[in-house]
Amino acid sequence: MEIPGDKIKTKALELGFAFCGFAKAIALEEDFAFFTTYLREKRNAGLDYLEKEPEKRTDPRKVFNGTQTVIGLLMNYFPGETLTAEDNFIISKYGYGKDYHEVLKARTGILVQFMNDECGPLNAKAFVDSGPVLEKAWAQRCGLGWRGKNTILINPSKGSFHFIAIILTDLRIEPDLPEKDHCGNCHLCMDACPTGALEAPYTLTPSKCISYLTIKEKEDIPRELLDKFHDRIYGCDICQDVCPYNRFAVPHSTPEFLLSERLKNMRKSDWLQLMREEFEILFKESAVKRTGYDKLIKNIRNAAETYNA
Ligand code: SF4
Ligand code: SF4
Repeated sequence: MEIPGDKIKTKALELGFAFCGFAKAIALEEDFAFFTTYLREKRNAGLDYLEKEPEKRTDPRKVFNGTQTVIGLLMNYFPGETLTAEDNFIISKYGYGKDYHEVLKARTGILVQFMNDECGPLNAKAFVDSGPVLEKAWAQRCGLGWRGKNTILINPSKGSFHFIAIILTDLRIEPDLPEKDHCGNCHLCMDACPTGALEAPYTLTPSKCISYLTIKEKEDIPRELLDKFHDRIYGCDICQDVCPYNRFAVPHSTPEFLLSERLKNMRKSDWLQLMREEFEILFKESAVKRTGYDKLIKNIRNAAETYNA
């Protein structure tokens, strides 16, 4: 028997999630076809982990036996205050506060415990950018948004600055309706992308994307691409900033995602002299720490050499 998900939604909102929805655990055949074509065309650049067990990503019943429901959760990270652009390098909004993996994992853990107390005993497994789950496809199925032409999940009422968490469970919960695509004839994100990483609608080429290149790329970046980074040293928000649906974004209220005073006070000369010890303090609990000191310093030097340092 399916149970209504109202109590779980209410608890999720109480925990600071902006949206919560449910989908029946089935095989997503269209997404599987799209994903395998993406892999076949080698569009995943250095993201080799995506090649592991592609069928699990679109069929959660293969992740663990008895999965009945996929729970999609969004947490807003749109900042009320941004870093100054004056005499500064640019860091993506998602790198402002504490590591979202940790923040979301802690809260999904509380939600699973709540579900267990209210409806258990049950099996559940939570994923935050981890494990074989196509988060955006499932979030769309859960009615939380659609995958835009910039490949990012867009919520129709609050835009795209959200982190996604997914919970798989053997609890049967009434599903929500999937969200429809509302991009229409718009192509602002594709026009605005400085490196041409959005070569076709809904298709991102990581090897051209500033976000991928400043966070994950280990090799040297071609100069013709660096020339288009314009002071970006960690991530890139351009294709989100231009999206009309982000006019509806409202500042988050998650204390962990607030800018630290230290980060706010950084200027170009501070970045250029950043020592390893200072990096450790500045990004102590931040996702930026995952990229590492050496990579960030390389990005800073690249930016300084290519764009009015
Ligand atoms: S993040 Fe930046 S570089 Fe990557 S697709 Fe969006 S606009 Fe292009
Ligand atoms: S900018 Fe336009 S095309 Fe791109 S994701 Fe937003 S609505 Fe879709």
